[in-house]
Amino acid sequence: PTIPQIPPNILSALRSLSVNHGNNDDSDNVRSHLSLVILGHVDAGKSTLTGRLLLSLNHVTRRQYQKHQKSSAQIGKPSFALAWFADEDETERERGVTIDVATKRVRTRRFDFTVLDAPGHRDFVPNMISGTASADCGMLVVAATTGEFEAGFADGKGGGGGGGDGDLGSCGQTREHVVLSRGLGVTQFVVAVNKLDAAEPPWCQNRFEHIRTKVLNFLKDSGYRERNVTFVPVSGLTGVNVNREEEEDGGGREGEGGGGGGWKALRKWYNGPTLVEALDGFTPAKREFEKPLRVILTDVSAEGKNVSLRGRVAQGFVRVGDIVVVLPVGDEATVARVERGKASNEGASPYSYSPAAPATASPSPSTPARSVDDIPELQNCALAGDIVEMGMSGIDPARLSPGCVLCHPHPSLRPKVKRKFEARVLVMERLAVPIIRGSQVLLHMHSIDVPAVLSRLVSSERRGDANPRQNPRVLSGGMTAAVEITLSERVVIEESSECKALGRFVLRRGGDTVAVGLIDKYLVARKIDE
Ligand code: GDP
Repeated sequence: PTIPQIPPNILSALRSLSVNHGNNDDSDNVRSHLSLVILGHVDAGKSTLTGRLLLSLNHVTRRQYQKHQKSSAQIGKPSFALAWFADEDETERERGVTIDVATKRVRTRRFDFTVLDAPGHRDFVPNMISGTASADCGMLVVAATTGEFEAGFADGKGGGGGGGDGDLGSCGQTREHVVLSRGLGVTQFVVAVNKLDAAEPPWCQNRFEHIRTKVLNFLKDSGYRERNVTFVPVSGLTGVNVNREEEEDGGGREGEGGGGGGWKALRKWYNGPTLVEALDGFTPAKREFEKPLRVILTDVSAEGKNVSLRGRVAQGFVRVGDIVVVLPVGDEATVARVERGKASNEGASPYSYSPAAPATASPSPSTPARSVDDIPELQNCALAGDIVEMGMSGIDPARLSPGCVLCHPHPSLRPKVKRKFEARVLVMERLAVPIIRGSQVLLHMHSIDVPAVLSRLVSSERRGDANPRQNPRVLSGGMTAAVEITLSERVVIEESSECKALGRFVLRRGGDTVAVGLIDKYLVARKIDE
């Protein structure tokens, strides 16, 4: 097979969306796409804040909100009305927690966000990993209320909390989420310091500054740069400092700043960005459609001869008629149908492509393209960043599974398929049981988890060490190390500089994260970094 070229008309259409090349163009007529993962400890207010963003940016109506308020009051949980916009699944509503990674579309002035609301429960960390692995940026939600921030941000060290009984023991999820995001390549964050309406006293500047300092130090220790992190005081429940000043619902405690008057209380000491402004301040991500194709499958289904695959285009470009190979199995197939996915709040089904969707009214020469969906040449195609459903012909669905990767058949354009590889890992700070040669772990990468053994410890070092230690016997918390990993089956991998999603992973043991890892040609000491 020859190396595919993007047809010139399509290439020029793509280039017309100038921000898709990562330009910092904030002219009003083009929006860049960003995947935003929402992270934070359980009950920090992630779903409520997501619902508030949807309401405040007119993705849901006041009327719908009032309906939710009524029915949530009926079941005695009035404060869940906003969260319901984020957690649409019925079982989630009943439990009041977010189980799976839900996707929503949110439009700000500069960006078209796919919002991934990741679950905060410890049991759901694998889902959070798959969400984070596909994110360009993150919103970390921390609750500012007394005790709640402390619980969510606990470092698991001593203090009667039983911190030593597991690898991350009684740690709050906030820290684990930060380390995982860094390991999985999310480089920019907005930190929403939430529930300030219910702080003691409400909208307390000292409380905000205290939390800011603590979280910022931790982010910096985890490898984040200060300039890539913005802190915003908010209340998702009341809407204060989310977007518009006229928006404020009752909530929080009565008194200064609670139950109304929050904006006024906040304005006394804060004149920084609203949450929406902070989101608009992200740096656009590059849609890497000119790189070799990688579609990571999340779902395979078949009805008779119709094989249908769902997945995410990690990079490259695919269209109807293309011949692709599915790895690790190596079978070839022809792409018979391509539909770009919609988030669950656009269109009838997440995967129904409707060219005349209201948000993307049909373009005329006088209305410049607002997003990829407006470009007729791009129908029947999907490109880097898209969630996609594809009909395939000439392939046996029984041989395919989630985690398989579609790519172009040309040998020079394929990722590697391996059972054993070398990688650089950063061991979590608080590790109850050290890692030794032969330690068994579960390797999580995009949507898969595979049993693995650390079959060789090549070298290790601690921050500040002059030289790495060769062939160490153990790896303990906080070390970086080069290791050899042997998996129970072959998987598709690639150097992270070639494809982030296939080159970054997380190692877990007994339900706790023990390390984040990176596949890197040059095993650069100490740097889990681009
Ligand atoms: P999640 O688990 O992080 O998604 O948290 P939820 O959005 O489900 O919120 C957990 C609880 O905190 C619910 O009872 C919310 O009503 C409440 N909550 C969320 N945001 C705020 C806020 O800004 N202020 C106050 N006072 N309560 C909030």
